[in-house]
Amino acid sequence: MTSLNKKTIEDIDVTGKKVLVRCDFNVPLKDGVIQDDKRIRESLKTLKYLLDHHAAVIACSHLGRPKDGFDMTFSLAPVAKRLSELLGIEVIMAKDVIGEDAKAKAAALKEGQLMLLENVRFHKEEKKNDPAFAKELASMADIYVNDAFGTAHRAHASTAGVADYLPAVCGYLIQKEISIMGEALANPKRPFVAILGGAKVSDKIGVIKNLLDKVDVLIIGGGMAYTFNKVLGHKIGTSIFEEDKLDLAAELMKEAKEKGVKFLLPVDNVVGDKFDPDCNYQTVNSDDIPDGYMGLDIGPKTQEMFAEAIKGAGTVVWNGPMGVSEWPNFAAGTRAVATAVADSGAISIIGGGDSAAAVEKLGFADKMTHISTGGGASLEFLEGKELPGIAALNDK
Ligand code: AMP
Repeated sequence: MTSLNKKTIEDIDVTGKKVLVRCDFNVPLKDGVIQDDKRIRESLKTLKYLLDHHAAVIACSHLGRPKDGFDMTFSLAPVAKRLSELLGIEVIMAKDVIGEDAKAKAAALKEGQLMLLENVRFHKEEKKNDPAFAKELASMADIYVNDAFGTAHRAHASTAGVADYLPAVCGYLIQKEISIMGEALANPKRPFVAILGGAKVSDKIGVIKNLLDKVDVLIIGGGMAYTFNKVLGHKIGTSIFEEDKLDLAAELMKEAKEKGVKFLLPVDNVVGDKFDPDCNYQTVNSDDIPDGYMGLDIGPKTQEMFAEAIKGAGTVVWNGPMGVSEWPNFAAGTRAVATAVADSGAISIIGGGDSAAAVEKLGFADKMTHISTGGGASLEFLEGKELPGIAALNDK
């Protein structure tokens, strides 16, 4: 793992400079209307700092997955409009990314002004981290700021490549992610409890392996628990499990034992007769799930056991729901864990994606120390991997 001691926007003089800021404006859009502007609001602190310190700001981002060139259904124009409303200033929208319009507008941009480039993924060179494309992007600015944690695990031109051509620092969002998560992993307040859930063991193997060296307690819930329970010889009915991960699950449990890590698995489950929000369901012990039934949530005894382990924690890291929490009949386990984390008083770090959405939906967001702004990126961070978008930034 490379240094996380990266320069921030406060470590560099931005006055009178053109600053290219990689934001995460990948907002949900429907018929050109933004469904949730959270990511735009989260970018404001960094953008305001730069504008207040007399920088001329050139913001850029990707949006969705445009396939072939300039597909205007993925235009960032709605983001420019919303950003303008939130900041109370005009946001100059470029018609392209590195074309004539963007370059002319960037050249004319003055201190305290903000422009937004079009979707960087309109150029296939973006995802290829093409050096010529990165250089063109860089040519419009004097300084590069990365504040898009959600794409920091990707080595793309606007997230990493551009840093080869400019002084490169992080914005407040990335700074917060690396300081809180970095500190939790390097120097956790103990006991350190990790809670992992979600559908598959295979998605979280790297995280489990890395965390086994660091945590005191590892709690496993969600669909991934059944692979472990199968190893223990439990009847798991039709619950999802990964046949090809049984050996690995056994190995991980053995490793936990050797390392003195308390490894908690569900002892009861809410099981349904099909994968359907309105299926017939009942609560049973985890070692005896009836034929034809699948585990869709943790049961009340497990909720209590997990809550007890979380209660005394100094640090909690949580990634992945305890069940199919999108469906009301199977959301209780995730709700119970969220409540326990919120009430624990521990340093609480919620990985992005489903667990972050669950915590927000339950109204517990304010009670958590940190909710990561990146699902995939926070997982890779917890795996101990180097994130290219962070590695590319200048060390202090
Ligand atoms: P992940 O993206 O790996 O965090 O997984 C989140 C998904 O796992 C959510 O869509 C949940 O519905 C799903 N999930 C959680 N528990 C189960 C389960 N017991 N069976 C099937 N899917 C589950």
